[in-house]
Amino acid sequence: MDSSVPSRPTRTRLDGLIGRLTAQRDILDEVCPHIPADGPVIELGLGNGRTYDHLRSRLPGRRIIAFDRALAAHRSSVPPEEDLVLGEIRETTCSYAGTCAALVHADIGTGYAEIDDQTVQWLPDLVARLLCPGGMAVSGLPLDHPWLEPLPLPDSVPVGRYFVYQLR
Ligand code: SAM
Repeated sequence: MDSSVPSRPTRTRLDGLIGRLTAQRDILDEVCPHIPADGPVIELGLGNGRTYDHLRSRLPGRRIIAFDRALAAHRSSVPPEEDLVLGEIRETTCSYAGTCAALVHADIGTGYAEIDDQTVQWLPDLVARLLCPGGMAVSGLPLDHPWLEPLPLPDSVPVGRYFVYQLR
């Protein structure tokens, strides 16, 4: 190999994080104006609260119910008590099935294949049952489900980095 030709730099975890955050922002900005007029937004994986903050900025006045196993959000992005549900999402969302959400954003991927492979076994059906017809799902993990139709991504988002669906 010609050593004068610089090799392509390795894609680092920092690159991956920047790509994921950019995809989240670009997709949420594109999707938010098109979600159904009624119904809450469900945030699965409150984490630091960054995407929660983005959603409440893009959807002022809309109820956003956030789920996580524990509260770790920045204090500026803590939902009101009645809209924060703590515990395992697989269990805590059971009583919200049929809630007719306009948008579900699921950001619960871990980057560990053995965990994410388990999550994609139950997450698609859980999301489908939370949505109302025409409701949209945005997810960091693929949601392979017969009720969920994949939608095109913004041009800025590479295929497979983040996923958008609409309940058929
Ligand atoms: N969207 C957040 C933000 O912008 O700050 C980041 C979310 S972080 C990547 C993922 C979060 O999902 C973590 O806080 C983790 O505790 C939570 N989580 C992952 N799997 C979960 C599960 N099965 N039940 C409850 N919470 C879960």
